[in-house]
Amino acid sequence: MHIFAAQLLTETNTLTSTPTGWPAYEEFGLFHGDGSRRAPDANGAFLAALRNWCEADGHRMTESLCAAAQPNGVTVRPVYEALRAEILADLRAALPVDAVVLHLHGAMVADGCDDCEGEILDEVRRIVGPHVPVAVELDLHCHLTRRMLRAADILAAYQEYPHDDILRRARHVYDLAVAAAARRVHPVTAAVDCRMSGLWHTTREPMKSFVAEMQALEGRDGVLSVSLGHGFPWGDVAEEGARLWVVADGDRALAEATALRLARRFVALRDATLPPLTALDDALDAAARADGLTVLADVADNAGGGAPGDSTFILRRMLERGVRNAAIGAFWDLGAVHICRDAGVGARLDLRLGGKCGPYSGDPLDLSVTVTGVVEDLWQRGLDADERFGPAVALRTENGIDILVCSVRCQVFSPSAFTNAGIALADKQLVVVKSTQHFYTAFAPLAARTFYVSTPGALRQDFGAIPYRHRDPVYWPRITHPEPVLLNFASEGSE
Ligand SMILES: [Zn+2]
Repeated sequence: MHIFAAQLLTETNTLTSTPTGWPAYEEFGLFHGDGSRRAPDANGAFLAALRNWCEADGHRMTESLCAAAQPNGVTVRPVYEALRAEILADLRAALPVDAVVLHLHGAMVADGCDDCEGEILDEVRRIVGPHVPVAVELDLHCHLTRRMLRAADILAAYQEYPHDDILRRARHVYDLAVAAAARRVHPVTAAVDCRMSGLWHTTREPMKSFVAEMQALEGRDGVLSVSLGHGFPWGDVAEEGARLWVVADGDRALAEATALRLARRFVALRDATLPPLTALDDALDAAARADGLTVLADVADNAGGGAPGDSTFILRRMLERGVRNAAIGAFWDLGAVHICRDAGVGARLDLRLGGKCGPYSGDPLDLSVTVTGVVEDLWQRGLDADERFGPAVALRTENGIDILVCSVRCQVFSPSAFTNAGIALADKQLVVVKSTQHFYTAFAPLAARTFYVSTPGALRQDFGAIPYRHRDPVYWPRITHPEPVLLNFASEGSE
């Protein structure tokens, strides 16, 4: 069997004005047919896994683009067109193929195109014709669109948030693609718009059990795959929002009934599923009072959702309160990294930190710091791959707060972000991570308690008040009782 594979990942925050251009993709590693070999533990992990499975099963894999960019504003038009054209040209050159397996985010917006993945899948379908299975792994924060549903045979999203199942779901998509190419299964999909916008952690109830319920249905009684795409609330596109879909084996009625039943269950859980937010002072009070490590998530300044990563609200309050024995990071501040690298380890200097990207960043902080570490290229362990901070420095304030500052925008995924820069966490009372939820898996074993803290950052979680211009305004929490609706995507006229 001949399988064509490619990856293109970025999540677009349309509320930020910072465009995503070539450097954003290059920073993460941009590979043209050799991502699986050159970055198997980082950006190329999906393609490397796919290559291993193909080789083990005696299939031939043709590998195309491997691209990813840290979430930010819309991708610049010529960049998107070049990335898309590369995948499509490679596919044409690879024909004939028996299956197409792609890893796409699902919430990528380019200048002039609100549904990049739908457009790419449309073109892929045109190239391979109606009979070659097109299978796609999507991020859980995708906007599942009718165009994507119409073009692809198999769409499956990650099921966990944090996304610690990227490679498990890749295997699921690969297995279904191979089975469909061999005509052992005949995938048909039904999708339901839940008419909800929000964030749903799968690390706690009732979402934990809901995910288990979805998983228990897969591979049994004609159900091939179940996904809940959460949507990306800061991506203002017409089809933003939570959508649940079921892929069944040749049985559309089964797919529809299962998708509707699950979507109604999910909607019914709505008041119990949103992340609990704590006021900053309450979280700092609790950290000061209690024994053991307190982990505090700066959810609104998560680079992984398109925030700049330089907001100062939490550090400012920690300094005002005289907090000691704490660590915070990662601040994205190129100038600060540059100055501190020049100064070198052991240098003491006055430094203006953060607060540079806009009103959501807060005001810059003027600090007296000691440089405790300089790392030429800092990496951390991510979810299913390693993640890069680039040149980075570790600083210590006079009060004993350790600060991680980086030059490649990236959220904190694991303690290795700090420890690889020489910041020990073992005896800390408080660690503040700029991340919304992906930090959770790796920090949970260390944390005596975890707080999700609301600040005025770029990713505010007042989902009912996001100033949408394109998204349908009939959604929870703007309305109280959303009625899930089955999506009709059979023809373009159905939109
Ligand atoms: Zn995601």
